[in-house]
Amino acid sequence: MTKEELIEELVRDGYLKTPSIIDAFTYIDRADFVSEDTKEYAYVNEPFPIGFNQTISQPLTVAFMLELLSPKPGETVLDIGVGSGWQTALIAFIVGRERMDNNETPLVFGVERISELFESAKNNIEKYHFLEKNLVSVVQGDGHEGLSASAPYDKIIAAATADSIPQAWKDQLKIGGRIVAPIKESIVVLEKKGAMEFEEKSYFGFRFVPLIKD
Ligand code: SAH
Repeated sequence: MTKEELIEELVRDGYLKTPSIIDAFTYIDRADFVSEDTKEYAYVNEPFPIGFNQTISQPLTVAFMLELLSPKPGETVLDIGVGSGWQTALIAFIVGRERMDNNETPLVFGVERISELFESAKNNIEKYHFLEKNLVSVVQGDGHEGLSASAPYDKIIAAATADSIPQAWKDQLKIGGRIVAPIKESIVVLEKKGAMEFEEKSYFGFRFVPLIKD
């Protein structure tokens, strides 16, 4: 399968809809986020190992979650569980679109707990100069606490599943903002309507690696 065939399939099956998200899938090449020996699988609609018991997310799941997240140019996004960096780069492409120059504050903040993946994700993301342009910032740590230093965020997305949405993420979200995160085997969308007021929708039937507490 080629990249174009994968994107066509995701569009045909209704997972990819929004032009800016489709453009991101076209521009940010999944093959840039996997090791040399697995590049032939980069356009197969499956998750697969990136080492340390972790996987690069399935294209279908990333498409579905990004459509729910609905990132817009200029928005700030917190990405929990950067892994390969692929989803982080997709988001950066979308929110960074209308940015003119370098050295503004980053728009996309990623957190990854495994140091080796944190290092390789930075290398992968830098293939698009997103760190050099100060569009993306990644830190190593436990995402349960979110990232208070750069809060509040317009959007928060997670790639590893927990039993409930951590309170820190709710606190670090702007009013009017949205969290898209796996909870058990569902994808949950939480909209923040007021300081303590949330509206929740959930989509059952997905598999994720666990959000690990050290
Ligand atoms: N979107 C990524 C998904 C990687 S899998 C990709 O496509 O590559 C989920 C990632 O979450 C793993 O890299 C795992 O190490 C990370 N993770 C798990 N628990 C975490 C935690 N508490 N804090 C930060 N990252 C975590």
